[in-house]
Amino acid sequence: MNEYMEMTEQGLLHTYNRFPVVLNKGEGVYLYDTEGKKYLDFAAGIAVCGLGYGNEELNQALKGQIDSLIHTSNLFYNTTCGQAAEALKKVTEMDRVFFTNSGTEAIEGALKAARKYAYKKGTGRYEFIAMEHSFHGRSIGAVSVTGNEHYRTPFEPMLPGVKFGEFNNLDSIKSLVTDKTCAIILEPLQGEGGIHMADAGFMKGIRELCDEEGILMICDEIQCGMGRTGSMFAWQSYGTKPDIMAMAKAIGSGVPVGAFAMTEDIAEYSLKPGDHGTTYGGNPFACAAVVKTLEIFERNNLLNHIKEVGSYLEEKLKELKEYSGEILERRGTGLIQGLKIKRQAGEVINQALKEGLIIISASDNVLRLVPPLIITKEHVDEMINILKKIL
Ligand SMILES: *Cc1c(COP(=O)(O)O)cnc(C)c1O
Repeated sequence: MNEYMEMTEQGLLHTYNRFPVVLNKGEGVYLYDTEGKKYLDFAAGIAVCGLGYGNEELNQALKGQIDSLIHTSNLFYNTTCGQAAEALKKVTEMDRVFFTNSGTEAIEGALKAARKYAYKKGTGRYEFIAMEHSFHGRSIGAVSVTGNEHYRTPFEPMLPGVKFGEFNNLDSIKSLVTDKTCAIILEPLQGEGGIHMADAGFMKGIRELCDEEGILMICDEIQCGMGRTGSMFAWQSYGTKPDIMAMAKAIGSGVPVGAFAMTEDIAEYSLKPGDHGTTYGGNPFACAAVVKTLEIFERNNLLNHIKEVGSYLEEKLKELKEYSGEILERRGTGLIQGLKIKRQAGEVINQALKEGLIIISASDNVLRLVPPLIITKEHVDEMINILKKIL
């Protein structure tokens, strides 16, 4: 163990098995540890640091915001928050945005928004249908809709009225619908669960089912959103606009911020003053990160870049699969890719770390590649060369 970890891990609750290195500097798509070793980063702080590290323009914007005003509470409107909401409205195609401090809180808010809508409409609907192998966060509400018993069992009883259906199996979902179903929640591309993309027919089917039955559709875009799939938000590539969506991770490029958003039709009957709140959520500092991130996205045409590098990455991973006998399956799209391997992912990840490459897992035997969105083809080649040595 690194000496810094021995000194500093002492006081922390042991909830993570961390990597045996301490990172203390980032530049572009590279990270450096306390011993000066350089790492190519294909994790982006779990799909967060889309703009990489040390983006001068973002840093200046954040420093400027610190100098003018960091926090006001939501008792006051702040213009940065208003700008962030306007910018998000445009890219999400939603009408009303509520800022949170994390993805988990965005999910909590989305669930509450759906329940309030049903309450106000007097439908008596309260049940949620969620997907097996989904991940939505760690609070009691969010784990209640997370399709992984390992995350739920120690904390039972969970929220009443949650049912799990099979992802990409419309009949399985239909069989769970009752006149009490309030919302269906899903990730268009499951991240933690192992990089599984929704089929087009499934997404369409869910939207139609919701319309027919008077159910709300909630998309969790926390990991797969913000350009990662090559669409700004993953649902947009299916043309299946949700009623409510949750986002976080890359929207603040490393500053802790999330949001849930909804259409005007939902907002009209949903959360009103007194129903929901947060002290920090939407503070000027966090919102400055959102505003600047979206500005850079648009000006640099990052979506096009992601499409181009993403398809190159996909091609190279396909070649790697042919080359190595260890890869069972390649999944995902754009700059969110998974490799299902024969070994435990941890072994490969630790070897990669020694070779100066940071990758992470998604479930036990899937390598997850979620690099900064600014990586180039050269970085992809560098990553592939390291994986070739290991696999
Ligand atoms: C990370 C993640 C969350 C939880 O977000 P936090 O910011 O860790 O609370 C929820 N849903 C998905 C799909 C995620 O990837």
